Amino acid sequence: MSVALGIPSLRIAAPRAAGPTEAAAATGILPAGRPATSALLDTYGRTATDLRISLTDRCNLRCTYCMPAEGLPFLPPPALLTRDEITRLARIAVTEFGVRQIRFTGGEPLLRKDLVEIVRDVASLDPRPEISLTTNAIGLASRALALADAGLDRINVSLDSVHPDTFAAITRRPFLDRVLAGIDAVRAAGLVRTKINTVLMPGINDDQAVELLEWALAGGHQLRFIEQMALDADHTWARDTMITAAQIRERLSTRYLLTPDDAPRDGAPAELFQVRDRTEGEGGRMLGLVGIIASVSEPFCSDCRRTRLTAEGGVRSCLFSHEETDLLGPMRSGATDAVVADLWRAAMWGKPAGHEMNAVGFAQPERTMSAIGG
Ligand code: SAM
Ligand code: SF4
Repeated sequence: MSVALGIPSLRIAAPRAAGPTEAAAATGILPAGRPATSALLDTYGRTATDLRISLTDRCNLRCTYCMPAEGLPFLPPPALLTRDEITRLARIAVTEFGVRQIRFTGGEPLLRKDLVEIVRDVASLDPRPEISLTTNAIGLASRALALADAGLDRINVSLDSVHPDTFAAITRRPFLDRVLAGIDAVRAAGLVRTKINTVLMPGINDDQAVELLEWALAGGHQLRFIEQMALDADHTWARDTMITAAQIRERLSTRYLLTPDDAPRDGAPAELFQVRDRTEGEGGRMLGLVGIIASVSEPFCSDCRRTRLTAEGGVRSCLFSHEETDLLGPMRSGATDAVVADLWRAAMWGKPAGHEMNAVGFAQPERTMSAIGG
């Protein structure tokens, strides 16, 4: 039953071959009973190979499901990871843990003036990870080319409506034109496989699902609907009013025929569907793919491969963790790579089985999505 809920069952993975810093057992940081592996293994046998780094907790939008209207008390600049610290942590991740994918997020990562340089540094790592960015696209129009030249591989843009009024109601800012200009610039810069992330909210934009998909298909973008999660600053999220994956499929089916895509999911959060015109049926031309990320109603925690760094250098093993392990303090106090790596490994060893958003007594983390890094 636990597997059906997307929660892994407890198991201690078999020991693997020693990795680059097995000598680092000497740090005394790793918990007793943890198998000798260099990877970011947890007690449920999952290994994290996908790193999300938040570059800032600041943002120029105030999406209702993420930030309060008045903003949040933002971190002072010295509290943020510097470019060199980010590169060092990314290097430890790829060389020590076998991380293969690094995604920059925030807050709004485009607010980092040194974003292009950070991407270039990380793209020069050996082995080179795949590098992607999740952004609201404000200011992307002028930086897309430089980011592509620096080595950025892929971009996900968050966009919840193509109606200026709805966009402004959700983000509390009238900047739809800038976002659309950013999306155009990504294509002009030669970056392909751009994805659009959309959160549907009841009574706000849930009636625009079909229209958004039409818009995305016309532009050749892969649209992904993300179920709203309990990470809003105003704590207004409610399980019984959120728009579920089943409701999203139902709405899209009024216009389109959705067929599960054959490609293996391979740890990806989105379940992909092939999209065809409903009137043409299964033999119709495939118009593109749509993804649905059912984090709440159909959780995929049992196959989670993510490890997260907050903008101030804390490891979070899960979006919904109530704990963080500080790496910045030890780094600034002269900790060696071996110590930093073991602190990170120990934090991931304690990764919880799942987010428990569906459990009675679920407690929403204090930090919002913008502060954790989505
Ligand atoms: N500012 C950037 C952006 O909006 O793309 C990057 C950070 S944002 C926190 C990353 C992603 O988290 C966005 O796609 C956003 O829609 C999503 N997000 C934020 N709050 C959410 C929530 N409560 N539930 C589901 N997704 C959320
Ligand atoms: Fe900013 Fe992204 Fe949060 Fe919207 S979702 S407020 S753009 S961090």
